Amino acid sequence: MAEPVPSTRRGVAPPARPRFPGSGLAKGLAVTLRTMTKKTVTEQYPDVQPDLPPRTRGVIGLFEENCTVCMLCARECPDWCIYIDSHKETVPPAAPGGRERSRNVLDRFAIDFSLCMYCGICIEVCPFDALFWSPEFEYAETDIHELTHERDKLREWMWTVPAPPALDPGAEEPKEIAAARKTAEKLAAAQTEPTEPQGPTEPQGEQP
Ligand code: SF4
Ligand code: SF4
Repeated sequence: MAEPVPSTRRGVAPPARPRFPGSGLAKGLAVTLRTMTKKTVTEQYPDVQPDLPPRTRGVIGLFEENCTVCMLCARECPDWCIYIDSHKETVPPAAPGGRERSRNVLDRFAIDFSLCMYCGICIEVCPFDALFWSPEFEYAETDIHELTHERDKLREWMWTVPAPPALDPGAEEPKEIAAARKTAEKLAAAQTEPTEPQGPTEPQGEQP
């Protein structure tokens, strides 16, 4: 009596193909040879630094002087990982008879990079150009608390931010640069302007 053929859910299982001795070894060698002829993609990091694009999202730098403590970045951050503390200060009037003004003074600005998902929303929404991407990425820590970078560290990252790409030829000059250039030109003109020569002074004799 013939042995029953094992069945699967779809029907009868196909008969096993005959295997030649050493066929697995030949297949493995074929894969090895194919891979050997392809371009290698292995990066030898950290012995060789990776060639990253200049606008890589590595870490966020803070240019504190531009920050007005408007809190937009902290409010828009989807991970709530930006911590800002501030207090108000009264500024005396600029001219006599003017009114006193109050301004926000930054006490703390920190970003927790263990929570940050590098979405870039904070940088996009900052209306005063106080936050920038830096391509630096070597700040792994063994203690997760160390991944909260305070304002001093964020300022240090600022010096690693690459310069912005050059404008297209024929592009309109940005307003800020135009204003700064005009001011610099006026100052230079005032410094080089020759002083009017003084005429000979009349002798102060006795009037008839
Ligand atoms: S990059 Fe995104 S997640 Fe990270 S601090 Fe900015 S807004 Fe928050
Ligand atoms: S959005 Fe910009 S200016 Fe406002 S608090 Fe954040 S970094 Fe400062």
